[in-house]
Amino acid sequence: MDDCYSRIFGNAIKGILSASLDLLFPQRCAGCGQLGTIWCLKCDRELIRIENSVYLYPDISLYKSHKRHIFKSNNLSCLARSYARYAGPLVPAVLQLKYRQNRRLAAVMAGWLAQIVDYEKWRADVIIPVPLSQERLRRRGYNQIGLIASALAAEVQIPVELKALERIRDTGSQVGLDPEIRWINVWRAFRAESDPVRGKAILLLDDVMTTGATLLACCKALKEAGAGQVIGLTVAQA
Ligand SMILES: [Zn+2]
Repeated sequence: MDDCYSRIFGNAIKGILSASLDLLFPQRCAGCGQLGTIWCLKCDRELIRIENSVYLYPDISLYKSHKRHIFKSNNLSCLARSYARYAGPLVPAVLQLKYRQNRRLAAVMAGWLAQIVDYEKWRADVIIPVPLSQERLRRRGYNQIGLIASALAAEVQIPVELKALERIRDTGSQVGLDPEIRWINVWRAFRAESDPVRGKAILLLDDVMTTGATLLACCKALKEAGAGQVIGLTVAQA
């Protein structure tokens, strides 16, 4: 069989498999649960889209008792942009991706982020997702931001680098901790490898931006490893 026929045959099999999977596990909207689609028009209309980028700076007021850290990172800032507010149907969608390895949903979100990359004409050398700790990755089995990053890489033709940035401290459950302590914990939570990032423009991906501390801490680690410009891009902003 020549290449053309084997490709047509392969695509037909993929189509049949995907249709059978849809019959066995019908798609439901990740926002409202409606059958038949992974993201429905109604939920899409309810998204509160964000039009502007923001500059993130270390928040001095939050860790004023750790002045030496502030001095070290005085010049750090990171341009960041989110697609929509963390509200309405986006909340269950983001949570679903955290607990189910749903590549279709990751692809929908990657499509949103690709619109921003195209619109802003951001030229990055590499896409890097905010990593989970090794322990958390082992428990969950996948990194939901890695799923979005891989789908985005295919859309915008920028390679994804999954191993350049490492979370060396699990900051997952900081409930009840003093805000200042939380900041410091996040601040020291990441380490980057020099070789894959040196001199490169980086698109740093996360699902939700809250205070911006995680993006900034990753940005700090990447810059310390020699990275050029770092732009943070998230699906949602709390
Ligand atoms: Zn919906």
